[in-house]
Amino acid sequence: MRYQPHDLTLTYEPARRMVHFVLYADPTRGIVTNALNAEIYIHSPTRHVEEWARRLERCEPNPLHAAILDNRSMPELFRRCVEEDGDDPTALATGSACSCYRTLYDPEFGLPVVAKHRRVDAASADKWSYQTYAPLELRPQDTFAALVVDRGEYFWIRTTDGLLSFLPQGPSRGYGVGYSGGGPAELALYIDRLIDSDGRDTAVHPTPHNWDTHPNVDAWTSSTAATRTQELTLDDLRALRHD
Ligand SMILES: [Zn+2]
Repeated sequence: MRYQPHDLTLTYEPARRMVHFVLYADPTRGIVTNALNAEIYIHSPTRHVEEWARRLERCEPNPLHAAILDNRSMPELFRRCVEEDGDDPTALATGSACSCYRTLYDPEFGLPVVAKHRRVDAASADKWSYQTYAPLELRPQDTFAALVVDRGEYFWIRTTDGLLSFLPQGPSRGYGVGYSGGGPAELALYIDRLIDSDGRDTAVHPTPHNWDTHPNVDAWTSSTAATRTQELTLDDLRALRHD
């Protein structure tokens, strides 16, 4: 007999007076975990962030959203926003203030997104921040058009179809610009691979033993010139080597 997955598996241990349960979940929009994918935290509403956030779609909380948050915050995923449910006990207690989470997903890459809503009182502006994962590479049908440095904080790829994707990134690794250190070195390595592969290699690779990036690319990612918002085509990136 073939294995039949069940939604809920209960194991009762009377001697220990415990009930264990395993929740079986089969997310249909892709699997990502913090063991494979880099976690992305977004706190600034840049125009690129807004462009990306516009395509996000709301969905019910699923285990991938729960995995983004710490255990203590998980129940908060099921609390309603005051904008949508003013009769919620939390809303009544806090008036127009809100501190809630909204669960979404990126329909293009299937990545789970948890948006955090904060409003101090009725007169103050809504603030949204986001937590999600970076992809490990572009999809097979995507073609690289530009690397986007977004206020020196966030890093994206724009495809030839105009789609914005987070720059592929592995766990425990991050990109940076404008200083001498690991972040700019990681970005230089990524740019070098893009140039060498004519934009075809967008995947995350293990960090090589011989860390040998082009000195001019390395110098650029560490410079303040790299910190302004800009979209760099393959030709722009190639030109960095000749500066
Ligand atoms: Zn809210």
